[in-house]
Amino acid sequence: MMKTMKIKFRTDDEEEFDIELKPCPFCGNENIELLCMEDHHTKTKKVTVRCRNCEVEKTTTGAIGLNTKFLVDNIVQWWNNRFEKNKP
Ligand SMILES: [Zn+2]
Repeated sequence: MMKTMKIKFRTDDEEEFDIELKPCPFCGNENIELLCMEDHHTKTKKVTVRCRNCEVEKTTTGAIGLNTKFLVDNIVQWWNNRFEKNKP
């Protein structure tokens, strides 16, 4: 049975929150990583969710001042919905 991963995500401003990620919608791998990057040159913040097995990834980009949790929630929701629609 596929299980939902619970991870603690810590932002650059030391804000920590729990998120739940479903396995990869393409290969079923449960080893998923979530990365947050700030680009001060383009003034954007990027949150990427990535499968460590098949390397499928999806990135969401927002303005650097945007709340990180908002972006993370956004990408996590996309990922989890994608899994529901496209169960491996
Ligand atoms: Zn995968």
